[in-house]
Formats: sequence, C-alpha cells, structure tokens
Amino acid sequence: MFDWKQDPHRRLNPLTGEWVLVSPHRTQRPWQGQVEESARAPQPEYDPSCYLCPGNERAGGARNPRYTSTFVFDNDFAALRPDTPPDRFDQDGILVAQGEPGICRVVCFSPRHDLTIAHMEPADLRRVVDTWAGQYRELGARESIRYVQIFENRGAMMGCSNAHPHCQIWSNSHLPNEVSKEQASQLAWREARARCLICDYAALEAARRERLVEENASWMVVVPFWAVWPFETMVMPRRHVAAIDALNDAERNGLADILKRLIARYDRLFAAPFPYSMGFHQSPTDGEAHPEWHLHLHFHPPLLRSATVRKFLVGYELLAAPQRDLTPEAAAERLRSA
Ligand SMILES: [Zn+2]
Ligand SMILES: [Zn+2]
Ligand SMILES: [Zn+2]
Repeated sequence: MFDWKQDPHRRLNPLTGEWVLVSPHRTQRPWQGQVEESARAPQPEYDPSCYLCPGNERAGGARNPRYTSTFVFDNDFAALRPDTPPDRFDQDGILVAQGEPGICRVVCFSPRHDLTIAHMEPADLRRVVDTWAGQYRELGARESIRYVQIFENRGAMMGCSNAHPHCQIWSNSHLPNEVSKEQASQLAWREARARCLICDYAALEAARRERLVEENASWMVVVPFWAVWPFETMVMPRRHVAAIDALNDAERNGLADILKRLIARYDRLFAAPFPYSMGFHQSPTDGEAHPEWHLHLHFHPPLLRSATVRKFLVGYELLAAPQRDLTPEAAAERLRSA
C-alpha cells in the first residue's frame, strides 16, 4: 500500500467522477509560511466612484437607491436574458447549440463598501443568507429557470473588479456542467446504496477529523479528500437538506456563523484578504423532487504559498488532469492553525 503522505497517487472526486493527481513528495522542502505585505489600500465606507454603493449611478446608467440593508438588482450587463428563444440547432450531432433563457442578478451584501463577510455582524450576515434563500425560491419558481447558481468572486486575482462586497446569481434553463456531474453522481449513489453521498461523506470526515477545518452545531467545513486548489474547502450542513430555502432558523444562523469564521480564517492564513471563488451547489428547480441532492458550498481560493503566489491550472492540468503537491490533510492542518 502506498503512503499518501509520500507517494504520488491520484484521488477520486466521487461528486464529479474525476481524478486529481497528488504529488506530496514535492513538498518535502520546508514550508516557507511566508507572509507578504500585500499592496492593499484600506477601503472607505463609501466610495463615490463605486457603481454598487448606495445612491451611485451604475455603469448601465441606472441609479442605486439609498439602500440600507442587502440590495438585489438585475445585472446591467447580464450573460443571460429571460426573453431568449429556447430553440435548438443540431447539424449531424456535431454542431449543436441551444438558446438559453436566464436571469442574472447582483446581491450587495450591505451598503458598506468596506464590509467583507468576515467583518459583518451576524444579524446582517443572516439577512444575506435569507436573501440567498429568497432569490433561490423566487427565481427557481419561474417556468424557464431550472437551476439557480449563487456565487461570489472575491479579489482582483479572481477577476473581481469591484471591491464592494457582493455576489452574483445566474439562473438558467439547463443544469451547468459541474452541477450536472454532481447530480448524476448523487443520484447513482442513492440508487445503489439507498443513502446520500454527502451525508455518508460528512459522517466519514466527522469521524476522521484530519481534514476538518471548522464546525458548529449545524455545519462543517473540510478540505475535501479530492481537493484541486491548495486550500479548497467544502461547507456542508449536517442535516440532509436539498436546497438553501429548506434551512431552518438555527441552520441559517449557523451558515452565517460558519462563513464568517471560515473567511476570517482564510484572511489570517497569509495575513491578507484571501481571494476566492465560492458558491452553492443545490437541488435543481425543475419541479421534480430531488431527494439525492445535499446542499453544500465550495470555496476555490487560488493562493498557494503566500498572498502573492497563486496556483495556475496550466500544462498538464489543462490537458490531462489537475495536480497538487500539498496534501489536503496538510492544507487542513495549516488552515486549522491559522
Ligand atoms: Zn461600493
Ligand atoms: Zn445528505
Ligand atoms: Zn458541489
């Protein structure tokens, strides 16, 4: 049996059916733990040039109300439009295309330009959770919307051009690729074992604890066994819940608590605001029951060794399979001690 702290091996992601190559022998050189002073100006509470701040004009010409809490609006430069004809084009099964109706929205977490999730009050963060749940339900209730993707890009490194804390919601008619893979895997697991894949996974991680990063009464955070990004995490409710609108009061407060703690932990790791893409995966909104679905979030932060050294998916990873050096167990250990 190989030693997964030493020997090159590959690990299966049972949610996608894909493999990641792990090369732990390449991290035998000592951990630098270097903390760099990143070039970041402290953000003001209000920025007159920010198109998300209350009362300001947006790039599309609309003006934001003087909002005092969480604020939702339709994206001015939306990737999807609700009135798109859903026709399909198919030439010999080679040139295949389909009209994709959808709606894209932006959610400002609060009126404060400088207030990231790690620094929000729990009650304000709870309003964000309720907004996510409300948007999931409202958009999902539309005939043409079968999936609601809630996600946040944080930091210039992730291509986020506006520092005002906000997330996006893209909702559309077809299951996106990643969701489609997870849907198939969760369904197959349920059909084969009459259990839930993520309930089984969460139970295993709760027992082993080596990849556990944070937990509270209703949620846990792990570096997944199959993580691709160095400090990737997965956030799971302990109860089997298919979607965010089914979370009860305590679980919604629990989600606000765990997100605040996780992001503060990320920020401490390299003593810098940690860039990431994060988002929910949950039940499609196609009108069917989806008992196989277990709500969860993924955090995909790009940083590798410091606030300025990022991991790129290039070469072998673009053409063959993702690869990592630092093991998920070692990454969890570093996050726990941050
Ligand atoms: Zn702003
Ligand atoms: Zn479950
Ligand atoms: Zn997922």
